[in-house]
Amino acid sequence: MARDFYEALGVARDASEKDIRTAYRKLARKHHPDVNPNDKSAEARFKEVNAAFEVLSDADKRKKYDKYGDRWEMADQIEDAQRRGGGGGFRAAQGAEGFGDFGSIFDNFFRRERGGPRAASGNRRGQDIETPIEVTLEEAYHGTSRQVNLQSPEACPTCGGSGDVAGAICHTCEGMGTVTRPRRIEVRIPAGVKTGSRVRVAGEGRPGAGKGSPGDLYLVVTVLPHHRFERKGDDLHAEVDVPLLDAVLGGEVTVPTIDGRVALRIPELTQNGRQFRLSGKGMPALGSSGQRGDLYVKARIQLPDTLTPEEKAHFEAMRAARAAATAHHEGR
Ligand SMILES: [Zn+2]
Repeated sequence: MARDFYEALGVARDASEKDIRTAYRKLARKHHPDVNPNDKSAEARFKEVNAAFEVLSDADKRKKYDKYGDRWEMADQIEDAQRRGGGGGFRAAQGAEGFGDFGSIFDNFFRRERGGPRAASGNRRGQDIETPIEVTLEEAYHGTSRQVNLQSPEACPTCGGSGDVAGAICHTCEGMGTVTRPRRIEVRIPAGVKTGSRVRVAGEGRPGAGKGSPGDLYLVVTVLPHHRFERKGDDLHAEVDVPLLDAVLGGEVTVPTIDGRVALRIPELTQNGRQFRLSGKGMPALGSSGQRGDLYVKARIQLPDTLTPEEKAHFEAMRAARAAATAHHEGR
């Protein structure tokens, strides 16, 4: 599907920053939608070239891309998970649903428990279980749910839990007295979860010993990176393109939020990089009712890609007017 970014720009993997910029300019001009009206393939190429340039022109992103390819946006999470030591964490970052190991966790537990001196252990609460899940930023915003497959132990229906049938080992449970029954539960993931949030499901951990209560199940959340929004706490950060003339004269631009689009008034003489705060358009605060972070939008002023002769004449007239105004000002 997505082509390698270097291929998309037609540059070598060790291309210099300047080579990348040059290749990008040439391709962007060639495939620009204004130059190729109603040409879907040019539009697709234009998007591809832009996506490639966005990553390869940024030293930090490029380094991550070189190392992780298409999964470069998750580099930090992957490395975090690796630092935390592990297999488990790394799986979380890989996008696997990650419940495959449940059966074996339970199995191992039961084999061990049955083999040991059960009476001696007394009544002990079962251990908690953690399993990683991934949610998108949209899911974290609205709240979502996940199906979790569990293996519940129950008494063997053949031997009734004794482990033997007429003096011989029971073949159904191989003498263990219990069998596992697959079960699927749905877990509600509340709005506002962050990477590292733990969603508790009471009583779905390992069974207790004797009369001990079972442990709890925890879903440990990783929120996936988003192509448009960067999350800082409960606030979101994004950029919005502002056409040059709207930046100069003032105007209105449409800002995407997770919830839909909103209009943002741009005051006249808005400088590139100016930040606007959209109050309450950030993430919901976990566990609070209705409290929300803010959305910060940074203006990215866009020059026109082409000018009609008439427009060019206007710009030239403006330059002359500005020169005259400056001369007049300096002359006084
Ligand atoms: Zn049995």
